Amino acid sequence: MIFILVMRKRTAGFYLIFFMLVMVLLITTSSLALHPNMDNWKQEKIVVDKIKTDKKVVALTFDDGPDPQFTPVLLDVLEKHKVQATFFVMGQRSESHPEILKRMAAEGHEIGNHSYSHPDFNKISKEIQLDEITRTTNIIKRLTGQNPVLLRPPGGYLSYDLVAMTKKEKMTIAYWTYQQDSKDWRNGVKAPTIAKNVIKNIQPGQIIILHDGCPNGMQTAKATDMIISRLQEEGYRFMTMSELIKLETSNKETSATIKM
Ligand SMILES: [Zn+2]
Repeated sequence: MIFILVMRKRTAGFYLIFFMLVMVLLITTSSLALHPNMDNWKQEKIVVDKIKTDKKVVALTFDDGPDPQFTPVLLDVLEKHKVQATFFVMGQRSESHPEILKRMAAEGHEIGNHSYSHPDFNKISKEIQLDEITRTTNIIKRLTGQNPVLLRPPGGYLSYDLVAMTKKEKMTIAYWTYQQDSKDWRNGVKAPTIAKNVIKNIQPGQIIILHDGCPNGMQTAKATDMIISRLQEEGYRFMTMSELIKLETSNKETSATIKM
């Protein structure tokens, strides 16, 4: 009898631990915004998180702007180093600061779509999701003449509906390389720490995610200065995200020609 009780307790304990592990896994996975179909979408090039190349090329990407205080400082840093980056802007903030968007375009940066108001896409209908995206595309077109082909959904949200929408709009979902998410947006993280995280994990073909539109944006701008200086010393070149994607496509075409 005692033996059975002990067994039962153990079984209950086991299930409890198992349940907790599953919960932890679910929470972790959802915060990484992974989707069960992610690998297929990556293969189909609907979602891009890095490219395959042996050349020392990477893309710097900046989210959540434009910010009237931090984005101009960051643009000065990029101009100083003659580096082009990709900005995933919010439509609402772009309307408030059109001059910053115009400057981005004039200085050769790529502008991507990061939704109009950065809502939690899990909590809005697909119709509102589409409206968030198309409104922002129209604002970017109107202000800069660029037709944004890259979409970075807020929080990295992914769903079958969003992918269908993206295909219809002829856009690519612009993810980032997992190892290059330095969480620079966290308040109190200093520039050297952000820069160190990026530099130590660098590999050819990566897409680096940073945030010019968050309250820690000044540290991000300073970190970008350090990142570019160091990586250029190591022989790295910086491209916009679309240029990086095109590089992979042209690599494939070249190797196909050689094989023939
Ligand atoms: Zn964002």
